[in-house]
Amino acid sequence: VLCVSQNYDFFYFVRQWPGSYCNTNRSYCYPTTGKPAADFGIHGLWPNRNDGSYPSNCDPNSQFNPSEVSNITSKLQSHWPTLACPTNNGTRFWAHEWEKHGTCSMSKLNQHDYFELAIKLKQKTDLKQTFRNAGINPNGGPYSLSNMKEAIKKAFGFTPHIDCNVDASGKSQLFQVYMCVNRTGSNFIECPVFPRGGRCKPSIMFPVF
Ligand code: 5GP
Ligand code: 5GP
Ligand code: 5GP
Repeated sequence: VLCVSQNYDFFYFVRQWPGSYCNTNRSYCYPTTGKPAADFGIHGLWPNRNDGSYPSNCDPNSQFNPSEVSNITSKLQSHWPTLACPTNNGTRFWAHEWEKHGTCSMSKLNQHDYFELAIKLKQKTDLKQTFRNAGINPNGGPYSLSNMKEAIKKAFGFTPHIDCNVDASGKSQLFQVYMCVNRTGSNFIECPVFPRGGRCKPSIMFPVF
């Protein structure tokens, strides 16, 4: 019998640069806790298969329950801030991520452990500092995409996937950074497969936030 919750091979750990969410032609809203830090926040920790497919919404009976993460709420607010409208404290984003992706993790990580794992992975990977060490700063740019990937590879040993979106004037910019993590969440790994979409130009902006 196939256990649905185990039906994945690794995680994508996805980070977002807030400046690139907020300078497009689309809406954004700061959370009720105020403007987030100028840092790469968490977007999600997504179970994925080696063939590129992924499970989602694995347990319709498991709704996000804020009381299960009450002892890490302030960490979630600072490390996993929401930028979507309407303004809220982040609960909508976390609920979406738990229900779509978290319910497919291991067999299965409980909500508290799932969110705590993501925070731990973020604390191991200070992307802003890593870029700074390579002379890459959120000051507009442009920067070479390959230099950005190289900076992360040099610091952590593995090549990330970088996802771009387009600013209000049509320029390609750094939006999300994907790193791969093994099935149990204990180690970063080389990505078995890269996601499609969000293609970057060879030279991209890194906007101020
Ligand atoms: P989708 O069209 O799948 O909702 O989102 C496509 C991409 O745009 C996603 O990476 C998502 O993060 C981003 N996005 C979705 N909704 C909004 C929005 O209201 N404002 C901005 N700035 N980005 C959004
Ligand atoms: P996805 O399915 O793309 O992982 O999750 C995106 C969903 O989370 C969308 O419904 C989007 O509106 C919501 N969301 C809330 N806050 C954010 C945010 O800060 N960034 C992105 N990309 N999506 C967010
Ligand atoms: P987008 O259209 O913004 O790239 O993706 C929308 C949402 O679909 C993401 O936020 C995420 O929830 C899910 N998604 C897109 N691509 C992948 C992928 O390659 N792997 C996994 N696990 N989820 C994905």
